[in-house]
Amino acid sequence: MSKIIYFNGKFVDEKEAVVPVTTHALHYGTGCYEGIRAYYDAGSNSLLGFRIEDHFKRFENSCKVMHIKLPYSAKKLTEITLELLKKNFAETDVYIRPLAFKSDPAIGNFDLSKLKDSLAIYCIPLGRHYEEGKGLSAKISSWIRVSDNMIPPKAKITGSYANSCLAKTEASLGGYDEAIFFTKDGFVSEGSTDNIFIVKKGKIYTPSASNDILVGVTRNTIVQLCGDLKINVMEKNISIRDLMEADEVFFTGTGAEIAGVTKIDGKNIGNGSMGEITEKIKKAYFELVHGKNPKYSKWISKVSG
Ligand code: PMP
Repeated sequence: MSKIIYFNGKFVDEKEAVVPVTTHALHYGTGCYEGIRAYYDAGSNSLLGFRIEDHFKRFENSCKVMHIKLPYSAKKLTEITLELLKKNFAETDVYIRPLAFKSDPAIGNFDLSKLKDSLAIYCIPLGRHYEEGKGLSAKISSWIRVSDNMIPPKAKITGSYANSCLAKTEASLGGYDEAIFFTKDGFVSEGSTDNIFIVKKGKIYTPSASNDILVGVTRNTIVQLCGDLKINVMEKNISIRDLMEADEVFFTGTGAEIAGVTKIDGKNIGNGSMGEITEKIKKAYFELVHGKNPKYSKWISKVSG
């Protein structure tokens, strides 16, 4: 897949979408990106892009932080992405990666406002991140989440993913599936590339934007779905005790989708199996992204094969 890539205003062959080793973003992490999913629907032989324009709205905000000028609006970028999906159509779930970055040479160039920008959008086939039905084991990371006045985590900046990679690597080497970041103030923040929710006595809690999280599109989707399911969701500062004593814990993200956590640092969460509320939300989420919830049809963009 993605033999065709959108690169600086044109659809080109993947071999042509390359950058020199001198590129600024490669040295200093001066780029912004997004991760978007499109689900293959065999019934209609089409790809169902999920909340593409909302991802591009977040992309616009991320790019503002990094002084990256996007050539088009979120609406136009959505249209370009649908064209890209059409050109690369395959009968599989797809992950779409927009990337905007500083493309001038790196050395001696630290004023972002004076540097040139590039934009690429490509897609790859992507199934489930985690094995179906398997509860994840998570490690409380030794690494602290980057905070708002270091590299703003509300912006999806390539450089801050070194922080995510360190946490994920530590977790993997220790035999865990995922990491849980805390903030510098000692509250739960998020996973390496996903938001986190805890369930206690039938109510759901999640860290707020002030807990150094990326405000996830999936997180927002879940909050709306929980409203429909009459499950109460509240933002709060979550302590280690809240986390370890939760009845259920789950991650949300475009890539991870809805992933239940059944063990943290070796300790069972709840009874150590997938939680009932997590399963209920996961089912509702999968129906929604597969276009089976008419209330949210506005979030789905269809590309026919
Ligand atoms: N936090 C981080 C650090 C992420 O990288 C992601 C993935 N984009 C998320 C949360 C989840 O965001 P979304 O639901 O928009 O994919």
